[in-house]
Amino acid sequence: MDHPVYNFNAGPAVLPKPVMLKAQEEFVNYRGCGYGIIEESHRAANFDEVIQAAEANLRKLMGISDDYEVLFLQGGASLQFAMIPMNLMIPGKKIAVCDTGEWSHKAMKEMKILGADVDLVFDGSANKFSAIGDVKSWKFDQDAAYAYICANNTIYGTEYHEYPDTGNVPLVADMSSDIMSHVIDVNRFGLIFAGAQKNMGPAGVALVVIRKDLPARCPETVPTMLRYSTHIKSKSLFNTPSTFGIYMIRLVTDWMLEQGGVPAIQKKNEAKAAKLYAAIDNSPMFRGTCCKCSRSNMNVCFRIGEGNEELEKKFVAEAKAAGLIGLKGHRAVGGLRASIYNAMPEEGVDTLIAFMDDFAAKNA
Ligand SMILES: *Cc1c(COP(=O)(O)O)cnc(C)c1O
Repeated sequence: MDHPVYNFNAGPAVLPKPVMLKAQEEFVNYRGCGYGIIEESHRAANFDEVIQAAEANLRKLMGISDDYEVLFLQGGASLQFAMIPMNLMIPGKKIAVCDTGEWSHKAMKEMKILGADVDLVFDGSANKFSAIGDVKSWKFDQDAAYAYICANNTIYGTEYHEYPDTGNVPLVADMSSDIMSHVIDVNRFGLIFAGAQKNMGPAGVALVVIRKDLPARCPETVPTMLRYSTHIKSKSLFNTPSTFGIYMIRLVTDWMLEQGGVPAIQKKNEAKAAKLYAAIDNSPMFRGTCCKCSRSNMNVCFRIGEGNEELEKKFVAEAKAAGLIGLKGHRAVGGLRASIYNAMPEEGVDTLIAFMDDFAAKNA
């Protein structure tokens, strides 16, 4: 292997090398204080600076206005599947859901446990979740409590390239796997959430960006810890948050700003994805699994032939030996998947493409 290991895992995932080195440098002795930030009180000035910088960076990168709160919560993206309906559902009103696979199903399961009436606006099962289709044709009942989408389906490798217009119905989006990978207009959303471990930092923190009018909907029956209003009031310090996770988000967002922010990163992401999809489309061996119209720029899903599991296994093993790790598809769908998040350098994608070409030639 004449290159570093390239990590194509879907999550936890690759982080920018300069961020890892900075965290290493500061780990034992944080900015001269003699101990690590991981050992610091979440009420101390050192940590206050960290969490405020993380929020300010996120506001700058995503263009989040004062109409929104920024929260750092625990329980991953998965707790949001329950917390969102707990706080935002309205008795007698439906939740409009656009179903693009696995992650939408997990969200819908929690809505139903909580007794919500789900209105399926889009059902991707008809095309086995290989396409998102024409969002302009989707109709949203203006009486719905809120509308729900998963912006990027990490498992199937589909991504919205345009968001549906829900009118006055607040749009809620799970952006766990494509947050800050491309420019969005936050003002179109009622709530955006994301587990940090794909594009933002380590596992253990979930980011929630919520429009300020929405938390007031929460009924009295929701426990304190599960209410957005609790975390808003205490600025994400109601209890001990994932301090190290928030510190890492601060470093990753510092790095993103140095890169030129989301527009510059988007350009790089589009170039990386275009290259990899072109290599798949031009190969006699590999085949993309999603409709070109909905292909994700973050999670590239592909197969060998019509699903040659033996060769796929060989591919994953030989790639690993060559320092290209994490290329196995999600267990729910099989096949191959290369997750090429913000922190994946272009050389990683180039190295993967060269490996694929070589593998195809040797196993023709
Ligand atoms: C990974 C992922 C989740 C789950 O995140 P956890 O933090 O593990 O709960 C939810 N939604 C999407 C789109 C994901 O990619």
